[in-house]
Amino acid sequence: MNCPNCGSPIEPAATFCTNCGAHLSNIPPQKPVTAIPKEYKPIGAWGYVGWNILFAIPVVGFVLLIVFSFSNSNINRRNYARSFWCTLLVAVVLVIVLSIVAAATGTMDELMQALQELQGSL
Ligand SMILES: [Zn+2]
Repeated sequence: MNCPNCGSPIEPAATFCTNCGAHLSNIPPQKPVTAIPKEYKPIGAWGYVGWNILFAIPVVGFVLLIVFSFSNSNINRRNYARSFWCTLLVAVVLVIVLSIVAAATGTMDELMQALQELQGSL
């Protein structure tokens, strides 16, 4: 163990540093520094908003979405790009299910009839 003030070695039970005289109990114990690897660099809340807007751009966003889904340079960005695919998948499944329900219940025909009547009245 070393003195947090001057760095000289001290006894674990010592109250004062024998070198600089610092009161050791007043100095909060230092947390071990664990550096986050570069590829796990966190993305802030506004960062996610930015990626969201970028991915929503037609064609360009789609290409970026594919690139970032396979790029391991930032794991958080990769996972967010992959989660975008999951959202798209859920949306596609929802549209398919709703279309089937609408076709089965005749809702589509009623909607088209109502639309034609509306056009006829104009
Ligand atoms: Zn010291």
